[in-house]
Amino acid sequence: MKLSNLRLNFLIAALMAVLSATTAQSWAPIRQQVPGRTAANLSLTATAFIQYGDPYSDYRNARYSNAGLLNERNEVKLGAQLHREVTKKFSLTDAGLDRVDRIGQRCARASLRPNLAYKFHVIQSREINGFSLPGGHIYITTALLKMANDNELASVLAHEVGHVVARHSLKTLKQSQEYDDIAKSLGELTGVAGDLGRDLGVALGQMVGAGLLTIHTRDEEREADFLGVRAMPAAGFDQQGMVTMFQKLLRIEAQNSDLLGSLFSDHPDAQERIENTKYEIARMKRR
Ligand SMILES: [Zn+2]
Repeated sequence: MKLSNLRLNFLIAALMAVLSATTAQSWAPIRQQVPGRTAANLSLTATAFIQYGDPYSDYRNARYSNAGLLNERNEVKLGAQLHREVTKKFSLTDAGLDRVDRIGQRCARASLRPNLAYKFHVIQSREINGFSLPGGHIYITTALLKMANDNELASVLAHEVGHVVARHSLKTLKQSQEYDDIAKSLGELTGVAGDLGRDLGVALGQMVGAGLLTIHTRDEEREADFLGVRAMPAAGFDQQGMVTMFQKLLRIEAQNSDLLGSLFSDHPDAQERIENTKYEIARMKRR
């Protein structure tokens, strides 16, 4: 079924609005601030977490499902559409793909969403990064692969799986006033070909082009860290890999920050994430 031009414009505007409304980043430490919260607020919150309590208390009793969001079938369709746009923008490679898939599938099976068909991809890039899309598409750059041992790579992959488990991108999409139209369009979409697929592709291509696909709030990053570090032992990996990965990123930032591209800055975020990760490792050892 074909959308009217008016409705399509709505869809594009809605997708762009959703993505402009959110702020933070993919796996790499967060550069931007959440709107409505001052820097002082953020650092005060972070300090309070570290000094006084459990940084992950919001997530311990969380239950995850697609209820109230795009259903899984449409989520997978959205992911397929987005992946097609990613392949236009980035250069995908088989180099290191076996390793990423082997480690990534173990992390996925150990996650709280083990039954989705996860697809791991490697992007040829000198920028160190990883990101995920709805429907279980997870991307890692060749530069990240080179600098990470298996436990460190597992920490990144388990974190990205965590975003998929917690349906972070779907929750962002749900904030749109045009969410119902988007869901309906995906529901009507029977393949990637055809007018609707092409039109949706234009909207999603703009999202990829703007680099806004992997945007998450600071709280969502914390939640993905939590889900990731907790899945690592069951996947057969050493949780210290998450700590040493963050430490490596801090060192690279100090030495050659352009390798971290736009996804890293002098925000003290990585140090906080190291402390949070150590907290969780110690807590899991006690229990
Ligand atoms: Zn992330």
